[in-house]
Formats: sequence, C-alpha cells, structure tokens
Amino acid sequence: MRYFSLNNREHTSNFEDAVVRGIAPDKGLYFPEKVIKLSEDFIKEIPQLDQTEIAYKVIKNYIGDEIPDLELKAIITKTLDFEFPVVEVKDNVGSLELFHGPTLAFKDVGARFMAGCLGYFIKKGNLGNVTVLVATSGDTGGAVANGFLGVEGIDVVILYPKGKVSEIQEKQLTTLGENIKALEVDGTFDECQAMVKQAFLDSEIQNKRKLTSANSINLARWLPQMIYYFIAYKQLAKKNKKLAFSVPSGNFGNICAGLLAREMGLPIDHFIASNNANDTVVNYLKTEKYESKPSVQTISNAMDVGDPSNFVRIIELFNNEFSSLRKELSAYSYDDDQTKEAMRSIFKETGYVMDPHGAVGYLGLKEFLKTRKDYYGVFLETAHPVKFLDTVENEIDQKIKIPAQIRSLMDKQKESLQISTYNDLKGYLLGN
Ligand SMILES: *Cc1c(COP(=O)(O)O)cnc(C)c1O
Repeated sequence: MRYFSLNNREHTSNFEDAVVRGIAPDKGLYFPEKVIKLSEDFIKEIPQLDQTEIAYKVIKNYIGDEIPDLELKAIITKTLDFEFPVVEVKDNVGSLELFHGPTLAFKDVGARFMAGCLGYFIKKGNLGNVTVLVATSGDTGGAVANGFLGVEGIDVVILYPKGKVSEIQEKQLTTLGENIKALEVDGTFDECQAMVKQAFLDSEIQNKRKLTSANSINLARWLPQMIYYFIAYKQLAKKNKKLAFSVPSGNFGNICAGLLAREMGLPIDHFIASNNANDTVVNYLKTEKYESKPSVQTISNAMDVGDPSNFVRIIELFNNEFSSLRKELSAYSYDDDQTKEAMRSIFKETGYVMDPHGAVGYLGLKEFLKTRKDYYGVFLETAHPVKFLDTVENEIDQKIKIPAQIRSLMDKQKESLQISTYNDLKGYLLGN
C-alpha cells in the first residue's frame, strides 16, 4: 500500500517511511491510496473469529509485506491483550468500553501498535536509534509512555504542563523509568506543544538525534483504531438491527478510523461525532463552512480541540462531497452542565458509571436515537471513569473502585526533569 500526502497527491510513501516521518515533508497528513473493500464472506465470518484474527485480516491490507506476518501477528497480539466489551446500558444502548488497557484509555491501542511497528523497523536495520518526542495534555503521554516502554532503540521524551494534568495521569508519565523521560514544563500545554514543534525544526538537534512524533496523525496510531469497531460488530451482529456509533471526538482520529472501517464494508449505518463545547465540526455540518476556533476548556478535556487535525482525512474519505458526508455523519455539541447531568441520570437510572467523555458520547447517541426506533446504538467509552475521579464522584455521589493498574501506580515515586524554556529542552536533547 502506498500513502499520499493530503497536501500533494504526487508525494507518496510506503508505510514505513510514513510512520517514521509522522507527517509528509509538505506537512500533509498521509492517506491510503486505496480503501480496501473486504469480502462479504469475511464480514459474515466475523462473529466466529477471535479479535486478533479479525485485527490481522483488517490491518494486513494496509501494511502489505512491509512487516512479515509473524512479526505483525506478534504486534497485534501484544496490542490487543485486553477486552473490548459492549456493555448493555439500557434498551438499545450499549457502551463500547475501550478502557481496559494498561493506561485505561483507548489510546493504548494506537500507541502500542505504533510502538510495535517502529520497534520492528528499528530492529530491521538502517534507521538507527529514534527519539519519540511528544507533548501531552493528559492521556496521550501515558499511553505513549506505556506503549514504548522497553522498546529497543527508542527513547521517549514527554513534555507535560506542570500542575495541569491529573495526579493519575502524572503518575502514568513519571514513574516508568527506563527509556521514558518526563519533562515537567513550567507553562501551558500549548507552550509544551510549541517547544516540541520548534525542536522538530532545529537542525542542531536533527543532526544529533532522529526525532519522530507519536501523535494521532501518525498512520500507525490512526489505522489500528479501526480494529475495535470490528470487535464491537462481532458482538452486535446477532442483534439484527441497524447500528449507530457515537464517538466522543477531539482530534477526530478515532471516528475517522470508524468511518474507514465502514467504507471497507463493516455494516455500520450511521456515525455521530459527539463534541463538548468545542463545536467546530458541528458548525461545519450546519453551514458547510469550516472555521477553526481557539479551544475552550471543559471537563472532557481530551476533546478540547478547536481545529481537529484528522478532519481533513474525513473530508477525503467522502471525496469532498459535503452532501454524502452529512448523510452518514451527525454531530452534536454539549456543555459541561449537560455532561454532568447525563452522568448523574444514567447512574441513577441504570447504575452505569460514565466518564465525562463517554457521557458526551451518550448524549449524542440519545439525540440521534430519539427519532429512530429501528437502531441499536453504541457510544464509545474512551476512558475509565477513575481517570476523572473528582468530577465523576461528585456527580454520582459515591466512591468508585480503583482498578489494579492504578493502585500499584499510586505508590510509585514520580521522577521528572523540570524545565521552563526551549533552551532547557534543547540542552536536554543535545545531552548537555
Ligand atoms: C484522545 C481522547 C478523545 C478524543 O479522541 P480523538 O481521536 O482525538 O477524536 C476522547 N476521549 C478520550 C478519553 C481521549 O483520551
């Protein structure tokens, strides 16, 4: 499979180079030259297959021979060593729980898969050592740190804003050691992000280290997110109903992977992009005008994005046809009060505990299902409620049980390097 840059179709790349670069030299996102159509026989077979077989058959199409089968299967097995259950919340509404991985966020899937691919490309030879440099506002850092932990030939450097991530998130970044280094920046997330961007343009650093990023525009993080839509379908096929999926969206990578799965032939009838107050796409679907905005802060902070980077991929998937996009995709936006009210009322009514992101997803689904009785709806639960402990416990007025992954973390010592300027970062990367 070749991948082209969305800024210039003439620039193409194989999977390996696209993953190592992250973004094309002209700053375009990579997109597959062809969307593979899966056979009807395969789709019919899905309920009988196990999740690693499904994943292999889906993802192999996009990797071809660039990773040998045995290696690819090992990467997939390691990526998916946890469950993706669809839990029935109430009649015709299910929650696809994506939070059973090591850092309790759906980003574990993309981060682990990318770590496996990059690790393989390094082991194979001519790349040399690679430094993964990322800025995080919360969940990305933990998933990336955990996914890349101990991968030979890779150093991970994570910048996070001091005092602006939750205690659990900070522990996930700062307690691993080995090849993972956490830099605690005296500044905001945007300042962390700006430092990372500057480092990528700094030739002194480039001469010394091979840098790559691990954010959601990287193909190796984006593509594997398709897999859990297939795993959900495995559990839902027997319902014999139309299916709608509601995806709490920030940078729109997750929902874009779902739309790609659908385009490949997975029988999902409708997608809903559920947003918090950051409603750029909601407005776009109303007006056909795309106007990015500065992000506003909400309780579902992993979705505080005013200019979603993967949206260009969605436009491409629909061949730039606004009318067909609007037919297949709905988008709704909710403020924090509505989100809290949803967490409260669903807990009261059913006993199910949602995190703020899942709650936004639930609200979008509810709105869509209001007038459509022939659907079974699924919202994606993208993070475990414990990651937003205070917010969630406040709403449901109860303590939530801390999962084992977190309990063991809380006793570990934080280790970080405090920095405040770009020069501090540069000094660190140059080994001064
Ligand atoms: C990253 C994240 C999202 C947003 O996913 P996108 O792919 O950026 O749309 C939603 N919920 C949680 C918990 C996240 O960490």
